[in-house]
Amino acid sequence: MSDTRHTKVLIIGSGPAGYTAGVYASRAMLEPILVQGIEPGGQLTTTTEVENYPGFTEVQGPDLMVKMQEHAQAMGCEIIGDIISDLDVSKRPFTAKGDSGTTYTADAVILATGARAKWLGLESEEKFKGFGVSACATCDGFFYRGQEIVVVGGGNTAVEEALFLTNFASKVTLIHRRDELRAERILINRLEKNEKIETLWFNTLEEVTGTDTPLGVEGVVTKNVKTGELTEIPCKGVFIAIGHAPANELVKDTLETHMGGYVVTKPGSTETSVPGVFAAGDLTDHTYRQAVTSAGMGCMAALDAERFLAEQDD
Ligand SMILES: Cc1cc2nc3c(=O)[nH]c(=O)nc-3n(C[C@H](O)[C@H](O)[C@H](O)COP(=O)(O)OP(=O)(O)OC[C@H]3O[C@@H](n4cnc5c(N)ncnc54)[C@H](O)[C@@H]3O)c2cc1C
Repeated sequence: MSDTRHTKVLIIGSGPAGYTAGVYASRAMLEPILVQGIEPGGQLTTTTEVENYPGFTEVQGPDLMVKMQEHAQAMGCEIIGDIISDLDVSKRPFTAKGDSGTTYTADAVILATGARAKWLGLESEEKFKGFGVSACATCDGFFYRGQEIVVVGGGNTAVEEALFLTNFASKVTLIHRRDELRAERILINRLEKNEKIETLWFNTLEEVTGTDTPLGVEGVVTKNVKTGELTEIPCKGVFIAIGHAPANELVKDTLETHMGGYVVTKPGSTETSVPGVFAAGDLTDHTYRQAVTSAGMGCMAALDAERFLAEQDD
């Protein structure tokens, strides 16, 4: 059935940025509608322990996101299980089309569609995701204190992650399919000087190996791209560091983006290149990519939207 819903503030996305925007916009009496998308709760629903969200010494990612959803709902945010397939920001009110057939019109839009780590697509990588395979050293490095770790990639992200992980690991092996890194010289210098890091050139990750009960990583098998030779490396953690892609499909042709598609916001604000459209969380953030920073930006977006709507009424 097709119908049209109007709201003062439409929030697209249900990660920490979206739900926090929901809490703040509701408390500002803006009666927001939040559309959850294909992954209700966002990226944290794909992980296990989270140990760096303030107020929780340790919490399971999915549980934290249920709490955030309940919090937004308790404040009055209407949460809808739908996916936005098209967003028209060329005129106000803005119009968003949902896969359900519902059309949403809104005086202001908060985009909180997040980002995705890029993965290699191996079956074994998928099997051990959250159980030894990660794409976020800041999030998970702490779990591998005193252990051996493998990092896959050859750009800035991979080198930064490898360096950061030496704070915890006894040894870090960086696997790269070429014999040259595509990272900034200063990072490469640091990497070369770091005695804990060994680089395995001309190798790709073939398989992650481990145990089923309990599910956990014990090592990797790599393949030399020139000789085909297989090498087994024991390790407890595997970090895939081949980049991130912001979920910008709805706005990549209508809003200003940079750094590989991240939505540009004005410094110190969540305003995008279109007045009345605000962006928060990983969609705009190629640097920090954390739940707490996303939540902070969700708060900013709701406050920015409130101010924008108040100015329209003047
Ligand atoms: C495995 C893993 C472990 C992590 N661990 C930690 C950790 O321990 N601590 C930490 O701080 N951070 C961690 N992170 C990072 C953290 O999850 C992200 O920084 C954070 O979730 C980003 O929040 P967000 O609100 O910007 O977007 P996301 O969480 O990416 O959520 C995006 C939301 O947008 C929705 N959406 C997308 N497209 C549409 C559409 N077209 N219509 C409607 N909705 C849409 C999705 O359904 C989803 O709900 C981890 C990430 C991963 C992948």
